[in-house]
Amino acid sequence: MFYSYKKYLKKMYGKAAYRVSVDGGFSCPNRNKDGSGGCTYCDELGAVAVYQRTMEADLAHNGETSGWKELILPGKTSVFAMEQRKAKIKEQVEEGLRFLKRRYNAEYFILYFQAFTGTFAPVSVLKELYDYGLSLAEFRELVISTRPDCVSPAVADLLVSYKADDLDVWVELGLQSAHDSTLQRVNRGHTRKEFERAFELLRERGIKITVHLIFGLPGENRREIMETVDYLARLKPEGIKIHNLHIPVRTALFEEYSYGELTVPSGMRHLSYTIEALERLPDTIIIHRLTCDTPEHRLGAPRTFFKKGSFLTILRSQMEQRGSFQGKRSMSSH
Ligand code: SF4
Repeated sequence: MFYSYKKYLKKMYGKAAYRVSVDGGFSCPNRNKDGSGGCTYCDELGAVAVYQRTMEADLAHNGETSGWKELILPGKTSVFAMEQRKAKIKEQVEEGLRFLKRRYNAEYFILYFQAFTGTFAPVSVLKELYDYGLSLAEFRELVISTRPDCVSPAVADLLVSYKADDLDVWVELGLQSAHDSTLQRVNRGHTRKEFERAFELLRERGIKITVHLIFGLPGENRREIMETVDYLARLKPEGIKIHNLHIPVRTALFEEYSYGELTVPSGMRHLSYTIEALERLPDTIIIHRLTCDTPEHRLGAPRTFFKKGSFLTILRSQMEQRGSFQGKRSMSSH
């Protein structure tokens, strides 16, 4: 029906492989030193793994957020000494491995620099952090999440230097929308042209790319969303991550939302966007995800949405009923 990330991993490794998410202490060039600014939906606690969020929820519950915030607040982390950053990476890898082995009996692991902008540092610093992370376990893949304006030729050269028979390299690149007007509206701080430049730098080196999209950004309806989808269908990144628009509290976008200035797609609306998008995407593109999972205590809108499992169940059943599948409308599907 669609080429899920799970299917891809199974095909690659013969069994499930799991991401160990780490925060390398990076900040983001789109946010100010004091943690303000950035994309209007930016959630300063957002880009972390679920098991780390449990820790965040516990800390918040106990009113002890300082340790957590010290770890990930942009601006603060950039002054962390290398040794502290490494110590945090070690802690997170150990915790991640423990959790994944216990919960899923996991055997294959992927090192994922997830939080904020994973290439936002001098190349020598990046090398030291990636080298260190990779030395902590036998990882099958290195995945770095970043922004288009933080991929230089030197960064791309460093990333490709990790590619080996037993280690694949992926970059997750945030685009969100192919419309410059939308990128400007949500203060993404980069253009589509910058995205294309970064995409080319990675592609010409054989680095695999997953593009992040958000469906339902302010000013966008079905037409704009499908234009972005068709644009990616032509570019053919190896993977795509689709997120429904979710607005965390304490963000500029939540303020707009509270004034009634925008609406957020409902679960059913997102479902219909997703089915159409899948039909338009070639069946060779790996679908890494289809929804967001902001923890409830931080989510401003939408307050009601399908749980991830139910969304997938309904999606599959609707696709089946309609005879729908990934690539159905894609000229380049094979
Ligand atoms: S690129 Fe990511 S971390 Fe940076 S401001 Fe936007 S959402 Fe926040």
